[in-house]
Amino acid sequence: MYKLNEKQDFEYITFPLFDKYDNLLNCFTTRKGGVSQGSFESMNIGFKTGDIAENVKRNIEIMAEKVGIDVADIVGTSQTHTNNIKYVSEEHKGRIFSNSAFKEVDGIYTDRKNVALMSFHADCTPIFFYDPYKKVIGLAHAGWRGTLQNISGIMVRAFVKDFNSNPEDIITVIGPSLGQCCFEVDGDVAKLFLAEDEGFKNYMEIKGPKYHFNLWQINKYLLMKEGIREENIEISGLCTKCHNDMFFSHRGQGGKRGLMAGILMIK
Ligand SMILES: [Zn+2]
Repeated sequence: MYKLNEKQDFEYITFPLFDKYDNLLNCFTTRKGGVSQGSFESMNIGFKTGDIAENVKRNIEIMAEKVGIDVADIVGTSQTHTNNIKYVSEEHKGRIFSNSAFKEVDGIYTDRKNVALMSFHADCTPIFFYDPYKKVIGLAHAGWRGTLQNISGIMVRAFVKDFNSNPEDIITVIGPSLGQCCFEVDGDVAKLFLAEDEGFKNYMEIKGPKYHFNLWQINKYLLMKEGIREENIEISGLCTKCHNDMFFSHRGQGGKRGLMAGILMIK
């Protein structure tokens, strides 16, 4: 499930499971409403994409204003396909415009108000976490490598360890990313997954020499293994490649693409 929101030409997605909490700001941007051109048209929020830096900076300013966050409050992930996660707070704010970005941190979490967590995506799965009782949020970038290394489970365990969260309370969203329709890999990747957990075979379809993975269901399975309740897992159901008009897609654009942002903040 998802909700498409429009503020003039800026369009962004929010998630019904999160929308009911007034103190929680959730957002996944689309490619609509920015100033970038060509393959980056138009709301590209990633500096390391080959786009003009001034345009990316302007896009982030536009996005922040539309969504209702202060650019200075943003803490971004670095995204190198690891399963490393990090607790962040006020001292980490503003890293998005500096050269002091985290190295090898694919997931961030906080219990602080007005710390806007941001991750970057163009096919890789964003996973959002919220414990409404302990007031903790987390955001992870889970491509197939992060999924294989169970970054979702690691985030849940961090909530439990650091904040005494009960997994049954944690609400999660698996956001727009490659669907099973478009996530195709070779047998060697399938082997890696099956070596990790044979249960993954239920979420793979063999199509000739290729395997089609359902990374949404695999992440849901991993979350449920940690004790997350099924009704607390929302899958947006939006494939970024199938909806290349709405989203940037690495596979859909031959690698020449911008990036969308996942955003989560406690107000
Ligand atoms: Zn697709």
